[in-house]
Amino acid sequence: MKTLILGAGYSGLAVATKMKPAPGLEALMVEQNAYHTFETRLHEAAAHNTPVTLPLAPLLRGTGVNLEKAQVEAVNLDEREVKLKDGRVLTYDTLVVGLGSVTNFYRIPGLAENASELKQLSDADEIFNFVNRAYTTEYQGNRDIVVGGAGLTGVELVTELAQRAQLLTKERGLPPFNIYLVEAGPKILPILDDALRAKAQKTLEEYGIHILVGHRITQATADTVTVQTASGEQKTIGAGKIIWTGGIQARDIVSGSKLEKGPGGRIAVDDKLRAKGYPEVFVIGDMGLALNQEGKPVPTTAQHAGQQGRLTGKNIMRLVRGEEPESYEPTTLGEFVSLGGLMAVGWMKLPWNQKLAITGGIAHVMKRASEWRWRISID
Ligand SMILES: Cc1cc2nc3c(=O)[nH]c(=O)nc-3n(C[C@H](O)[C@H](O)[C@H](O)COP(=O)(O)OP(=O)(O)OC[C@H]3O[C@@H](n4cnc5c(N)ncnc54)[C@H](O)[C@@H]3O)c2cc1C
Repeated sequence: MKTLILGAGYSGLAVATKMKPAPGLEALMVEQNAYHTFETRLHEAAAHNTPVTLPLAPLLRGTGVNLEKAQVEAVNLDEREVKLKDGRVLTYDTLVVGLGSVTNFYRIPGLAENASELKQLSDADEIFNFVNRAYTTEYQGNRDIVVGGAGLTGVELVTELAQRAQLLTKERGLPPFNIYLVEAGPKILPILDDALRAKAQKTLEEYGIHILVGHRITQATADTVTVQTASGEQKTIGAGKIIWTGGIQARDIVSGSKLEKGPGGRIAVDDKLRAKGYPEVFVIGDMGLALNQEGKPVPTTAQHAGQQGRLTGKNIMRLVRGEEPESYEPTTLGEFVSLGGLMAVGWMKLPWNQKLAITGGIAHVMKRASEWRWRISID
């Protein structure tokens, strides 16, 4: 069975690390980088240059999965072909698509052209380099940072940047820059309940972060962001760096006449995570539109991408043995948001669907524990 795994992110790598060499199984992973990126820690790399990648080759040892460092250009499910950027075409019996998501700029004028993203290592490096440059006496431009989107990524990023600013102010004796967090919706961190959100908001305020909720970004230039309130009031904020974390959409790389796509371009899958109309194709992680037990879309998170990947890895081994694949039953074990340093807020699942709210250092440890669990699961 010729199996291709596209992408070595949380979903694709989880597939590979659940596989074992088996007679008749030929498995190849195609990934554009020679490393796996801990995307959930990119905000730390952006603020502090923390290492957030691991070489793939040692992680794949003993799995029977070979690695091809190449960029996928297009996937044609009707032809069962994967076209690579270098012109080569790969074929498969079984395909796993785990290529993740891209930033959605919602066609806001000037935003895609002028804003940085936080989706890969090079984005984090760009933000880190800006902050370093802005904290020199030679730098004459605007040093303020505007972050659009107050979900998990935006909030984690502004708190780390605020910490970095405090450190650099102490070290280099320059005044801290302003950090603006702009959100069109009425509140930050809509995934959290009110008490946890209030705690997070207080932490952001203590850092001196300017929180603008109910402000929609309507336009961006190289050094300004225009925002508008629901009542039509407009203002323009000057910025040395604009970063957009306000939306994602599935990577648009797969075509097929029977494909069904849902919100954000995610590909509809059945209860075994196979693309509808293509039983030989598993679509997992941010690209797939899996439904939970209540028929609602499973969130695009590393936690769920990893669960889907582990199940798909096991299911490929079941298919090799001639067994039926198992069904997917998503579970959300908890959600934690880091707020810089040793501070975090979140909740963990308890028996009988109860949630335990946790804040402060213990929440930070819980967040770290989920990262360690991931690290151990791919070894
Ligand atoms: C800053 C930040 C913080 C986050 N924090 C959390 C968190 O705390 N908890 C949580 O659960 N989730 C978090 N998320 C979301 C989580 O990271 C994603 O949901 C998860 O990475 C999705 O996994 P995936 O396997 O679908 O895609 P990814 O992990 O993005 O992997 C996709 C892989 O495909 C490769 N690839 C892409 N295109 C191509 C191509 N054309 N050719 C070859 N290779 C390609 C990429 O290089 C990458 O390795 C965060 C995201 C960000 C950006």
